[in-house]
Amino acid sequence: MKQVTMMKFKKLFEDQKANLLYSNKLMNEDFTLKSEDLSDESDLSSATLEQAMRVQLRSREALFLKKIDEALTKIQSGTFGTCECCEEEIEVSRLEVRPTATLCISCKESEEMRETRSADGRKSKSMGLKGSLRIA
Ligand SMILES: [Zn+2]
Repeated sequence: MKQVTMMKFKKLFEDQKANLLYSNKLMNEDFTLKSEDLSDESDLSSATLEQAMRVQLRSREALFLKKIDEALTKIQSGTFGTCECCEEEIEVSRLEVRPTATLCISCKESEEMRETRSADGRKSKSMGLKGSLRIA
């Protein structure tokens, strides 16, 4: 991948990270204002639905943040944009749509095909003979 392209993604990730951290900060402040007893965030039974949703949102953000950090580490080591499966370069057009992608399109497709096939396998079992004939 060209250095200039890599720098473009670096900037993108840094912006996304800054946004995430900023919204997390706002949310944390909101938490403190609304409730005193949320020091134990794992105790969801006593939390309201809204608070539970916030925690869920935060864990999703944390996961996204982790992906951004991984991508930034890869940019630093110069391996960003390399498929984790076949080690070919991931198409830039694909990274533009999904900057945190770690598989090239063909590896991703074969992964999805495997998943679809195993889903098909389960389906054909419940459909009996007809299902297996269709697959054969
Ligand atoms: Zn690949």
